[in-house]
Amino acid sequence: MSDHEEIIILGAGIGGLTLALSLHQAGIPCRVYEAVPELKPLGVGINLLPHAVRELTELGLLPALDATAVRTKEAIFFTEHGQLVFTEPAGTSAGYDWPQFSIHRGDLQTILLATVRERLGMDRVVCDRRCVDVEQDEAGVTVFFSDASGAPAASVRGSLAIACDGIHSVMRKKFYPDEGAPRYSGVNMWRGVTRWKPILSGASMIRAGWLAVGKMVIYPIRDSIDAEGNQLVNWVAEMESDQPAQRDWSREGRLEDFLPAFENWHFDWLDVPALIRSADSILEYPMVDQDPLPRWTHGRITLLGDAAHPMVPRGSNGAGQAIIDARCLAGCLKNEGVGPAALESYDRERVEATGNVVLTNRRTPPDSILRVVYERSGGTPFEKIDDVVPRSELQAISDNYKRVAGYDPELLKSRPSYL
Ligand SMILES: Cc1cc2nc3c(=O)[nH]c(=O)nc-3n(C[C@H](O)[C@H](O)[C@H](O)COP(=O)(O)OP(=O)(O)OC[C@H]3O[C@@H](n4cnc5c(N)ncnc54)[C@H](O)[C@@H]3O)c2cc1C
Repeated sequence: MSDHEEIIILGAGIGGLTLALSLHQAGIPCRVYEAVPELKPLGVGINLLPHAVRELTELGLLPALDATAVRTKEAIFFTEHGQLVFTEPAGTSAGYDWPQFSIHRGDLQTILLATVRERLGMDRVVCDRRCVDVEQDEAGVTVFFSDASGAPAASVRGSLAIACDGIHSVMRKKFYPDEGAPRYSGVNMWRGVTRWKPILSGASMIRAGWLAVGKMVIYPIRDSIDAEGNQLVNWVAEMESDQPAQRDWSREGRLEDFLPAFENWHFDWLDVPALIRSADSILEYPMVDQDPLPRWTHGRITLLGDAAHPMVPRGSNGAGQAIIDARCLAGCLKNEGVGPAALESYDRERVEATGNVVLTNRRTPPDSILRVVYERSGGTPFEKIDDVVPRSELQAISDNYKRVAGYDPELLKSRPSYL
């Protein structure tokens, strides 16, 4: 086989590595080129909902996920006064055939990378190759790289190039040069992990408060990390601010910038300021996204994951939609052959669908349950939640999001596999 028959994947993040495994499953050769010299388990927690876990299960990764992540049992919403607003079961507890997992992003990337190296070979992920440009002709693509020092590195030929290079995608900028920087949503996030005893069921995804006064997202991402039975608990503090934080996934955050908003959150189910103060480390990041694009595919080149549809992280769908893109694309290439026609089919199936997720994350993601309660209660404690808003209205917000994002239980069960 000559090199130019390979599909070239740009970026070894969640999307790029899932694509490599899926192409391998479809019998299609590929190679991944990653900008950083060494892949390290960076980031904090992410959630994988049943539609994404279905895809990872079909890749044979369920045992590895079960050995590493926490199976989420329920989603649970509180006010900033610690009052229960709404709860619903999640994953297999909600009757899905596939669980929901809360997992460290680094753990997920490590599982995917190890599996790619084991199944495809050690030489299939090439690090220290930052894509700087891609050119295409009738027969294939030529990809140009630089190394970590910024010096040019040898170019490679391939059949197609799939840009899985995240929110700062070089190929997205090439196709949409006037788009501008990612759009700030008016909310900053401080993210951390803390070693802590199990909270509530020990498998709860907790959302509390509201963005105007301070909102927290809290869930465990590793079980039994020591002899005392502590968990690694992921938390995100979110607050409205005119001033966006810098867009750097590894930028350190400062307690004094956000802790005051949560100083009085001493609830019978959790002491929130104590959890925050005990964090191993704190990172800050602005909530950003981009307007949906009209198309991702340009001949032999297409976009996938955050490169295609960066979204504000308010629906646990950033990694999930990247995984589904990868599976859908591999399915199109298997069914239609390796060429531009398959990329067009992928475009038709995924551009509008993910655009709807981006827009719903802006307007009515699951946590808008908390906005409704905050606005109707005036931010003051209530006697009974039913006096503020009927449960059916909150359930409708949750159910609508499931339909838009592709994990409505019936629709998910009846959808044929991509591969
Ligand atoms: C370091 C890091 C930490 C993150 N932490 C979190 C987090 O804590 N919580 C959260 O919700 N999301 C986090 N994310 C984003 C999250 O992983 C994505 O939203 C989601 O998983 C979609 O994955 P993706 O593969 O599209 O993009 P990403 O996971 O962002 O992966 C993109 C990959 O492409 C590589 N790359 C970038 N430019 C080039 C180039 N020119 N050539 C070759 N390779 C390139 C990057 O190094 C990266 O490995 C993080 C992303 C990164 C890169």
